Amino acid sequence: MRDNEWLYRGRLGRFLEELVVPHLYGETHPLELTAWPVPDEPVPFAEAARQEYAPFEVGTAWGRGWSTLWLHVTGAVPADWAGRPYEIVVDLGFRKELDGGQAEGLAFRPDGSIIKAIEPFNRYLPVEDPDAIDLYLEAAANPEVAVGGSWHPTPFSSKDTVPDTLLYVLRRFELAIRNLDVWELNQDIEVLAGLVEELPPDLPRRAELVVALNEAMDALDPADVPGTAARARERLAPALASPANASAHRVVATGHAHIDSAWLWPVRETVRKCARTFANVIALTEEHPDLVFSCSSAQQYAWVKQFYPELWDRLKEKVAQGRFVPVGGMWVESDTNMPGSEALARQFVMGKGFFQREFGYEPLDVWLPDSFGYSGALPQVAVAAGARWFLTQKMSWNETNVLPHHTFWWEGIDGTRIFTHLPPVDTYNSRLAAFELAKAERQYADQGHGNTSLVPFGYGDGGGGPTREMVAKAHRTADLEGSPKVRIGTVNEFFGEAEAELAHPHTWSGEMYLETHRGTYTSQLRTKQGNRRSEHLLRAAELWATTASVRAGLAYPAEELRQVWETVLLQQFHDILPGSSIAWVHRQAEANYARVAGVLEGIIERSLAALVGEGEGALVANAAPVALAGVDAFAVRPPVEGEGEVVVTEQDGGWVVDTGAIRAVVDADGLLPSVVDAASGRELVAEGRRFGLLQLHNDRPSMYEAWDIDGHIGRVVTDVVEADSVRLLAHDARTVTFEVVRSPRASTITQRITFTAGSPAIDLDLDIDWHEQRTLLKLAFPTSVFTDRAASEIQFGHIHRPTYVNTSWDVARYETVAHRWVQVAEPGFGFAVANDSTYGHDIRRDHPGGRAPGTTVRLSLVRGPMFPDPQTDQGLHHLRVSAVCGADIASAIRAGQRLNQPVREIRGARAVEPIVAVDSPAVILEAVKLAEDGSGDVVVRLYEALGSRATAVVRAGFGFKAAERTDLLERPLVPGDASEAGTVPLTLRPFEIVTLRFRGVR
Ligand SMILES: [Zn+2]
Repeated sequence: MRDNEWLYRGRLGRFLEELVVPHLYGETHPLELTAWPVPDEPVPFAEAARQEYAPFEVGTAWGRGWSTLWLHVTGAVPADWAGRPYEIVVDLGFRKELDGGQAEGLAFRPDGSIIKAIEPFNRYLPVEDPDAIDLYLEAAANPEVAVGGSWHPTPFSSKDTVPDTLLYVLRRFELAIRNLDVWELNQDIEVLAGLVEELPPDLPRRAELVVALNEAMDALDPADVPGTAARARERLAPALASPANASAHRVVATGHAHIDSAWLWPVRETVRKCARTFANVIALTEEHPDLVFSCSSAQQYAWVKQFYPELWDRLKEKVAQGRFVPVGGMWVESDTNMPGSEALARQFVMGKGFFQREFGYEPLDVWLPDSFGYSGALPQVAVAAGARWFLTQKMSWNETNVLPHHTFWWEGIDGTRIFTHLPPVDTYNSRLAAFELAKAERQYADQGHGNTSLVPFGYGDGGGGPTREMVAKAHRTADLEGSPKVRIGTVNEFFGEAEAELAHPHTWSGEMYLETHRGTYTSQLRTKQGNRRSEHLLRAAELWATTASVRAGLAYPAEELRQVWETVLLQQFHDILPGSSIAWVHRQAEANYARVAGVLEGIIERSLAALVGEGEGALVANAAPVALAGVDAFAVRPPVEGEGEVVVTEQDGGWVVDTGAIRAVVDADGLLPSVVDAASGRELVAEGRRFGLLQLHNDRPSMYEAWDIDGHIGRVVTDVVEADSVRLLAHDARTVTFEVVRSPRASTITQRITFTAGSPAIDLDLDIDWHEQRTLLKLAFPTSVFTDRAASEIQFGHIHRPTYVNTSWDVARYETVAHRWVQVAEPGFGFAVANDSTYGHDIRRDHPGGRAPGTTVRLSLVRGPMFPDPQTDQGLHHLRVSAVCGADIASAIRAGQRLNQPVREIRGARAVEPIVAVDSPAVILEAVKLAEDGSGDVVVRLYEALGSRATAVVRAGFGFKAAERTDLLERPLVPGDASEAGTVPLTLRPFEIVTLRFRGVR
C-alpha cells in the first residue's frame, strides 16, 4: 500500500513550520545598536559615518516612506562560540510577499567598504572580527507601492504625498548560531517535496519520495532537532542520489537579478539597489565557485563605478574571472516599441562601448526579458551591433495567443535573422523551485528537436539576485531522477548548446507584438513628448556640430552629447518611456528632458552660428533628412516663398477650403465631413463620417492601469461633437486656420485646423487641458480607403499590420505602436497621419453604417490611469497632428519629419551646403556624427525607408581619404573595402541599414 499523500502533505507542512524553520538558527547573542535618521535624501557613507548616533533598540519602529536610517552596530561573539558556525541575522520588518519592493539595507565596514546587503530573503551578515564587530547598515524604508499586488492609487507615488507614519519595525539584529544540518535538511526537503508535486501520480518515483520524506520526518527528534537533522538527511540521501532520466530536459541556470532602472521607486533608489544586489552576488560567488551571474545594463555598472568605487573594483575582478558576466550589450533594458531609430542603435553603441572600455568584453546576446513587445527592426539593429542571440520571456505574458516556439530564428522587417530563446520557465526571477523546473520542461515547445532551455534565477524586479538557497537547489537538481538536469552556466554557454542541438529552427517573422500592456504607447504623454523631442534635438545637434567641426573647425561637443544620450537612453528604460513608473520618476524624467533640451539647443545655436557667421540675412536651417520649406536636407538657405493661394468660402454655417491640392469642408461642428483630392477628385472621408472626431472611452483595465488598455474599451465610445465655439481664426493668402473649442466633461480641448496653399495636409494643433481619469481620448479619421493592411513607422522602416480581424492574433492586436506616421493606401491613393508626440494607434476595417467598407485610423492622445501615478496625464498638453490626403510612404515620411524636425529660422551671413547628401528618395540619412573614438572621422548612418531595393550615391560635402562600411559600433565590416572617391555608391535591400565611416576628413 502506498503512503497516504494527503496525510504526508499535512504532516510535512507542520514539520517544516514547527520544527525545521524555527531551528535554522540556535543560540543568539545581542549586539549594540545606535542610529541616525537621514533628514532627507540618501547621503554617502562618509557623510553618514560622521553623524551623531543615538541608542536604538530592536523592536523600535523606523522609516517614513522613502527615508533612510543608518544603524551603527557593535559587539563581540561570545568566547564559547569559537569553532561553531555563526552569523549576524537582521530583520528590518520584512513582509513575506515582495522582494525588492520593501525595506532593504546595505552593510559597510568603518572604512566605507561594503560587506553585503540585507534583503527580505537574504537576512544575514558575516562576522569578520569576532572580538570587535563594528559595522554600519544603511536601511532604506522603501514603501510597498503595490501592496499585496493591489493596483490602487498610492500616496507613495511621490515624496510630496508620503504619509507621516513609520512603515517598519526592526525585529531582529543579533548574532546567531547556524544549525547547518537543519539548513541542509530544509534544502533537501524543499527539493524532494517540490518534486513530489510535479511527478505523475502513478509514477513509482513519486511514491518512493513520499516514503523517504516520511522516514526523514520519523528520524528527526523534536526534542533535539539540531542533533538529529543529520540522521533525517541520511533517510533522504538515496532519493537525492538517484540519477536523472537520460532524456531529462537540460536547464542552463544562470544567476540573475532583474533590477528595473526605475519603477515603483525613483532612479536614485535603483543606484542603491545595484550596490546591494551586486555586493550580495560578489559575496555569494566567494562561497560558491560554480556560481555565475548574468547582469545587463551598462547604466547600472556605470552607477556602481560612479558611486561605489570600492565595490566597482571588486566587480571588475569578478568580470575578469568570468563570474559576473555582462549580458545584453545595451545601455538599459529599454522599451523597443518607442525608441527612435538612432536611439535604439545607440542603446547598443553606448552599452557595448561601455563594456568594451571597462572590461574589454563584448556581450553577444540581447537581454530583454521584460520589455513590452519587440520591434520588427530589432533583429537588424542587434545583428548590426554584433549580437548573435536574442532573449526575452515577456511573450509568455500574452493574454490571447501563445508563441509556437521557444528557440527559433527571429526575422526582422529587412530579413535579418537572430537566434532567439524564450525561456519556457516563463520568468526571469526563478528560485529554481521544482515547479519552475518542471514547467520549463513541460512547456518547452521545441521538444524532440532540442532539449535545453535557460532559467535565469535570482530575486528580481527590485533586485535581490541569487541566494545560497537557490544555489543549494541547483546542486541538488544537477542529476536527480524526475527533475530536469540543472547546470549553472552562462548565457553564452546556453546559446552555444541550443544552436548546436537545434538543426532546423523555425522562423518567426516580423514584430513580436505583446498581447498586453497596450496602454504603454500612450500613458504619461509628457514623458513621451520629452523622448520624441530629445531624439530630434539630438539628431540636429549632432548634424550641426559635425558640420561646424568639419567646416568651421569648431570643437565637437562629444562629452556633452554623450551625457545627453545617457540620460535619454536611461529614460527609454522599460518602465519610464512606457509610462509605468511612479509620479516621482516621471516628474524627474520631465525635468531631465527640459535640461537636455537646453544643452542641445545650446549646441545647435553655437554650431549654426559658427557656420552662418554674423549677419542679419534671413536663413532657414533644415536638419531633417528630407527637403522642407524648399530647403534641401541638411542645408541652410534663404527662405523660399511658397506659391499658390488658399481659397475659403462659407457654406451651411461652415466653410469650404480649397488649397489647390485638396478641397475640404469644415462644418458647423468643427469637423470635416469631406476631403477631396484635387488631382483625382477622390473623396477621402468615409461616407457619412467626419474627420477630426474626438472620442472618449472609459479606460479601467482589470489590473495594470498605466500598462493596459483592455479590449472592452472598444465596445463603448462617446463622440465629442459638441463645440463651445467654432470660428475662422486667421486667414491670409497662404494659410487659413479654424479654431474649435470643446469642453467634454471636466476638460477643455482647443483644436486649431490649418490648411496651407498647395498642400494636401490638414494640420491639427491640439491644446488638451486634461482633467479626466481612467478615460482614453482618441482622435479619429474614418477614411474611404479600402485596404487589408496599414503601414506604421518603426525604427529604420515601417511595418505592415492587417486591418481586418480574422484570427485571434488579429483580434488581440487592437492597439498598435507607430512612431511619427501611419499610412493606409489603395494602389495609387493613400492617406497618412503624422504626429509629433505619441505612439498609440488603432487602424481597422470599418463598415460605416452598412456603407462601403473603409479604414478608420485613430490616434490615442491621452489617458489618465491612476496607478502607479495617480496624477498621470493631468493638466495641459500640446500636440500636433497632420492628416495628409493622397499620401504615399514617401510623403508620410516627409509629414513625420515636418512635424518632428521642423526647420529653424535664423539670422546669418551665409548659406551652408549639406555636409552629406544622397540622391535616392528611398534613402534616409538617419544620423551624422563624429566617430565615438574621437578620431574626427565622420560617421553617417542611413537606411532604405520605402521597403524597396535602392541604388544610391552618397556624396560627402568634405574631403576624405577613405570611406568604409562599418557595423553600428563603427568597426569596418570588410577591412580594406574602402571607397576613395568623393562619392560612395550603394545598393540597399529593403530597409537595410548602412553605416559609413569617412576616414581622413579634411
Ligand atoms: Zn522590468
